[in-house]
Amino acid sequence: SSNFPNITRLFSIGQSVQGRELWVIEISDNPGTNETEPEFKYIANMHGDETPGRELSLYLIDWLCSNYGSDTRATSLVNNTAIYIMPSMNPDGFELGQRYNANGVDLNRDFPDQFNDPNNTTYGRQPETKAVMDWSINHNFTLSANMHSGALVANYPYDGPSSGSYSACPDDDLFIRLALEYSENHPEMYNSSSFEDGITNGAEWYAVSGGMQDWNYVWEENFEITLEQSNTKWPNESLIDDLWDDNKESMVSYIEMIHTGLRGLVTDENGPIDATISVSGIDNDISNDKINGDYYRLLTPGTYSITARSIGYASETVTITINNGSAEVHNFNLSSDPNLENSDIEGFELGDFSGFEWENLGNEAWVIDGNESVEGQFSARSGSIGNNEQSILSIDIDIQEDALVSFYSKISCEPTGSQTGNYYDYLSFQIDGQEQDKWAGESGWTFREFPIQNGSHTLAWVYTKDQGVTSGQDAVWVDYIVLPSQADTDIVIGDINFDGTINILDVIALINNVLEGDLLPGTDTYTASDINGDGTLNILDIVGLVSTILGSGL
Ligand code: ZN
Repeated sequence: SSNFPNITRLFSIGQSVQGRELWVIEISDNPGTNETEPEFKYIANMHGDETPGRELSLYLIDWLCSNYGSDTRATSLVNNTAIYIMPSMNPDGFELGQRYNANGVDLNRDFPDQFNDPNNTTYGRQPETKAVMDWSINHNFTLSANMHSGALVANYPYDGPSSGSYSACPDDDLFIRLALEYSENHPEMYNSSSFEDGITNGAEWYAVSGGMQDWNYVWEENFEITLEQSNTKWPNESLIDDLWDDNKESMVSYIEMIHTGLRGLVTDENGPIDATISVSGIDNDISNDKINGDYYRLLTPGTYSITARSIGYASETVTITINNGSAEVHNFNLSSDPNLENSDIEGFELGDFSGFEWENLGNEAWVIDGNESVEGQFSARSGSIGNNEQSILSIDIDIQEDALVSFYSKISCEPTGSQTGNYYDYLSFQIDGQEQDKWAGESGWTFREFPIQNGSHTLAWVYTKDQGVTSGQDAVWVDYIVLPSQADTDIVIGDINFDGTINILDVIALINNVLEGDLLPGTDTYTASDINGDGTLNILDIVGLVSTILGSGL
């Protein structure tokens, strides 16, 4: 870093159990700056006794820096990528000559796991794990790999749940392509006798719980594979040059894969906006960079339907053909959603369920959650139910024409059966008692949309538990529910508590609404409260309602 200060930044992301720094070097044309470039990372030596990755990291750092400005590939990578390399995640284990960290923990079993430890938190984890998690969470890594030895293979998600059973993730095709990029460029790996084409699905080889690659994919939108770069864990020093010769093309080509697929910006008329990129048929959305608006969606060649979505904006869907080679570029420019003006939006931002006529049914009522939301501060969270119980949030609506109902949901509960696909604990969305879809396992805020016909309907969000297993946070959330605008006949001006009569109780409710001042325009309660229809709630509405009750007004 001292020799190449213009293209490197050396920093520590924390300390090991025994106080050693956890060094990372960033190599980029503007290190330390969040540019409109994808972020890549290599992490080596998380198993202390697997040493080749440490050396290969140093060779790669040297190659990138020494060839910058003279070699086309090195220069292009450094100019167009933020490359982070961590030669040792487990320096204590290396010094001790052991797989584990100084607390005797296998760091590649210490991450949150979608099947066995689905609480995505650093609480209770080893300092080395926590440092890597915090660092990753604060970046938008698109592609990464972690380096091991003891075999010769490129291993890809999922790593669980069952040994010997292929466990495909939604991006299985992409991961096979990424793993092949490594094995095909290695003189021995692709033709090794142990693994067909030198690659393997993680679980099919052997199941790992708490591995780093699955954590990156499940929670960080980061495509990571696990490299076994040498059959020998402690090669003789004289063999290290050959080790680099064998892995150099693979390591460089793998970084270059970050420049394939689809990329671009998501903006509105004023600049970058938060957005998610969805690919039809692949249930794994990617978020863009919140500062610069840039997104990177790695994909294998083919034709895809791609949607950019942002709350409050009309989504945009395009058909894009991805070819071999450099990434296709598509910039999305979104405008505000005109349909929202004719809709009722429930974001639970009143901090309670008073914005609409919600019914809370089942064994335990849904609650407001101030720590989770896709928009604003609040969301609705399922009640804390026990075995064979349900928590149901329900609403009756009456609409005049066919429309769409949409919402965002987040799930953290027992997953479906890995072999059977059976649902045990799950959120279902129902219209008039008919299940429209259901979701289980671990998934972040995801957009859901369903058609609904004109007429009167009951919508219900139902969290159901069977007997036995409890996983994750054992809860589901919904937020930003967009309901089609309802028939006006539902609302009687002045009947603010919707009890069918206008009396002193409505005056009390109206005074509260005026004093609190946080009722959202467009909601039924707001419409019923705006007695004089001037679009604001104030003392004139209270006077008007009292006059109505006394028989002298309206
Ligand atoms: Zn290992």
